[in-house]
Amino acid sequence: MTQTTFISTATAGGTPPGTRAHLTSPVTQAALRVQNNITAAAREYLVGHGFMEMMPPMIGPVTDPGCRGAKQVDVDYYGHKYKLMTSVILYKQASLLAFDKVFYIAPNVRLEPLETADTGRHLVEFTQIDVEVAEVRRADVLDLLQDLLRHVVSYTLRESKADLAALDRDPDSFTAMLTKDFERLTHTGAVKRLRGLRHGQSADAEIDWQGEKLISEQTDRPFFIVDYPKGSRGFTDGEDATRPGTLNNFDLIAPHGFGELASGGERTYQYRTLIERMRETGENPAKYAWYLELAKEGLRPSAGFGLGLERLTRYIAGLDAIWQASAYPKLPGVAAP
Ligand code: AMP
Ligand code: MG
Repeated sequence: MTQTTFISTATAGGTPPGTRAHLTSPVTQAALRVQNNITAAAREYLVGHGFMEMMPPMIGPVTDPGCRGAKQVDVDYYGHKYKLMTSVILYKQASLLAFDKVFYIAPNVRLEPLETADTGRHLVEFTQIDVEVAEVRRADVLDLLQDLLRHVVSYTLRESKADLAALDRDPDSFTAMLTKDFERLTHTGAVKRLRGLRHGQSADAEIDWQGEKLISEQTDRPFFIVDYPKGSRGFTDGEDATRPGTLNNFDLIAPHGFGELASGGERTYQYRTLIERMRETGENPAKYAWYLELAKEGLRPSAGFGLGLERLTRYIAGLDAIWQASAYPKLPGVAAP
């Protein structure tokens, strides 16, 4: 299949069929086998690099506050209002009290806005490969993520050769990412690039979904957007001490219109800064008591990222829509098992 046809199919949304039709579809089966190799490859890489895999908590008194526009799900925990995890970020930071390098393959639930149902990139229930390293800087995890992604792609091209061929995924689409370093573009640079493409991207906000897709169509390999402005992200993203207002964070964007694969960065970890940043972002510190208690006695400086498993599967397998990478897909606003 040529690259041009491929790009046009990547824009198609479509909706999942019923459970039986979905599970018996050769496309679903191939996509899930590819996904299986992706998790095997990620585990092989991370464990081989000294990471400890931990089992993810699913509910807690609070969860990741920084999820653009998505609502959290409440759980009645013996009369306490708990949340389903939107990400394990707070637990990742805590886990570094036990181990220097940790990862989780963790389920997340986010009630995403209805208008994301046909982006081809949003599910309500999805999985993150969530990685955190103590005492390192953003530059270290950018290198780690590039290396991890290359390992996962090489492994999957080798082990899922027949399935990728059946899905019409051209292995040559990965040559550039396997051989050339991923570009590191600042948020300011990304805004400029988008405005050059006549997309009205705000300079103070996250790159919007349309912009993310547009900028992703312009490249032949994944790239990083770094240095988001403070107001655009939650309190967990660390502010640069020498550049007030700039966060030492990043997104990883896939090429060919597939959009964002991962977000990460250095973390806010000092008690006082956490309280300040919570207040600035409209979060009530009292809700985060257990976490702030840990911070008061000392959390470790760290950096890490969350890599979306279904998004990564969609990119590697060249799927039209993200729901094809889930056995029981839940799209925003669509009732499904
Ligand atoms: P975030 O920290 O919100 O950027 O989430 C981390 C990663 O999880 C993203 O880069 C995506 O790969 C993935 N992700 C986030 N939200 C969704 C969603 N609604 N559906 C599928 N994947 C998602
Ligand atoms: Mg993100």
